[in-house]
Amino acid sequence: MRRFIHLHLHKLSRPTFSPRFHLKHTAAAASFSSVQSPLDHKPQNQTSYIGPNSNTDFINHLCKNNKYEEAISVLCEQMRLKDAIKLLHFHNRPSASTYSSLLKLCLKQRALLEAKTVHKHFGLSGFVPGVFLLNRLLSVYCECGSLVDARNLFDGITERDVCSWNLLISGYVKDGSLQEARKLFDLMPERDNFSWNAMISGYVRHDKPQEALKLYGEIQIHDHLKCSKFIVSSALAAASSIRSVKIGKEIHAHIIRTGLDSDSAVWSALCDIYGKCGSIYEARHIFDQTTDKDIVSWTAMIDRYLEDGKRKEGFAMFSDLLRTQTIKPNEFTFSGILNTCANQNLESVGKEVHGYMIRVGVDPSSYAASTLVHMYSRCGNIESARNAFELLLNPCLVSWTSLINGYSQHGQHEEALRLFGLMLESGTRPDHITFVGVLSACTHGGLVEKGLDYFYSIEKHGLTQTVDHYACVVDLLSRNGRFEEVENMIKRMPMKPDKFLWASLLSGCRTHGNLQLAKRAAEELLELEPENGATYVTLSNLYASAGKWSEVENLRKVMDERRVKKKPGLSWIEIKRKVHVFQMGDLSHQRRDEIHGYIEKISRKMREEGYSPRTDYVLQDVEEEQKEENLFYHSEKLAIAFGIISTPEGTPLKVFKNLRTCVDCHKAIKLISKIAERKIIMRDSKRFHCFTNGSCSCNDYW
Ligand code: ZN
Ligand code: ZN
Repeated sequence: MRRFIHLHLHKLSRPTFSPRFHLKHTAAAASFSSVQSPLDHKPQNQTSYIGPNSNTDFINHLCKNNKYEEAISVLCEQMRLKDAIKLLHFHNRPSASTYSSLLKLCLKQRALLEAKTVHKHFGLSGFVPGVFLLNRLLSVYCECGSLVDARNLFDGITERDVCSWNLLISGYVKDGSLQEARKLFDLMPERDNFSWNAMISGYVRHDKPQEALKLYGEIQIHDHLKCSKFIVSSALAAASSIRSVKIGKEIHAHIIRTGLDSDSAVWSALCDIYGKCGSIYEARHIFDQTTDKDIVSWTAMIDRYLEDGKRKEGFAMFSDLLRTQTIKPNEFTFSGILNTCANQNLESVGKEVHGYMIRVGVDPSSYAASTLVHMYSRCGNIESARNAFELLLNPCLVSWTSLINGYSQHGQHEEALRLFGLMLESGTRPDHITFVGVLSACTHGGLVEKGLDYFYSIEKHGLTQTVDHYACVVDLLSRNGRFEEVENMIKRMPMKPDKFLWASLLSGCRTHGNLQLAKRAAEELLELEPENGATYVTLSNLYASAGKWSEVENLRKVMDERRVKKKPGLSWIEIKRKVHVFQMGDLSHQRRDEIHGYIEKISRKMREEGYSPRTDYVLQDVEEEQKEENLFYHSEKLAIAFGIISTPEGTPLKVFKNLRTCVDCHKAIKLISKIAERKIIMRDSKRFHCFTNGSCSCNDYW
């Protein structure tokens, strides 16, 4: 189950900047570097002030006529900040508006050095800036995180206004220096909405919700101050993070009193707190009453449902949204839905959403499109995942990792490792989840030495090996029977092995019949999770195949004493958008007679192909014939039989199982794929198996 859990945690994070911006940015940087500096290198005939670029002649013409003011303004318009700053050195008396445009550009480009040059130039040219310009300079310093410069500047401003105070407070908040920010806040001669919100939202952002709520309480006392929508939203976020519906309701009452309840941002915050604190119906109630719903509120409400596990409601709302015609879903709406499809393996819904995205023309290189890669990989449709991936201009780490993991689980370990190489070449840095994918590719491919190399290379990428990586390597080694190395590895690892590691070891021991080490792994596992029936079953199977029936009996007694229940094996298959779930020996399905009839028919053919059931993996100490019987009614076989009788010939089938599939089923399904001429994809708790024409993509490693 572990790989899937990891991918689940690897939820796509929202992008901080668009790839396009990145492209533009680097292109601009390249053009700057080709510009000659008039300071380092004086042109011989003084005709050229600025290096080659379009408009160069025009700017040089302006400079020759001492029209620096105009030249700088043209350069500012073209966002050529560095060139404009160079001209500043020739200009003795720039006007306030020239300084202003330069600083505006500095702020936009977060150019600290250039801003400092402008700052120095004030002194050189004898210009005395007003508080407006100084505030702009202050905001560049704060934006660039240069708080020492900001503080020095602030201390030197004689006529500070409320904006100067607010800028520095926000600067400190952004930097995480909340104490400094609060000192200034308390010292301020007068505060406005912005000051209050800077402080309150700062507390929320830095995980100090109680402080935020205390300050919010103070505003109520200064009731001459009207609360802004930003302040109430921050206060709601604070209440939401401590999960207090009671405080949330108080703030809600205050919002209604001040008439802010019609605002969609405030609504989103309200919906958030009611949704998170378990009152999703209240959230929906507020949503329905909001008159100016926008896509943000729609997306928030849909996400609330999905996060709350209310998939049906979430999808229904998404359909409602599409029906409104006036409001269009955005990238975040799509990615929320697609992530849910990914986590719940709902490929058919995911495909529909994908189709819709194509129809409305969502940019195939966008963030929403990268969630398609994740969705298709998780649903086991590696071809479509690859197609979506190919369309991304700058695949992000999550897209690379999704695809690498996808290939790895599909037994295409070579492709997974090739992609990893390409990812490194592209300059994308792997994270620890990428390495889980890489290591499990090696495990599934049986590539022991390569896997060990990757394991030791983790540190070269600036990461440290986590317990997950150790578990992967233990898996790799124990599948290949290298138990001595496993034991050394466990001794050496700096953290305590987790249950996944012991479980991998246990199943390796089962494959290689290492009863002694299996016992130890099982004991450790039972220490960690005494209620997990799977451990007892595995150990008991091991004893059974060694013929140690008395040990099997003892184990069963322990299980009874501890009231351990075996986790029932479940398999499910989606036919015509309906999910059918099967349990071992399931007699409840309405088409059970046809299913059982088919199983009888195909098992006869399988025997003709030389199949004999692997009965040593059956827990019970029963007669051979009955064992065989049980094997034939394992849940995945039932699901596959049902799939075959309810779909046209040749249709590929996709089956999911909550546990690891057993050796017998694996062998049987290989034959079924050949006899029934079907491609069968099965995802068990470990990986994807793709069965075609008598063999499986995992090469019998799983
Ligand atoms: Zn089975
Ligand atoms: Zn397989």
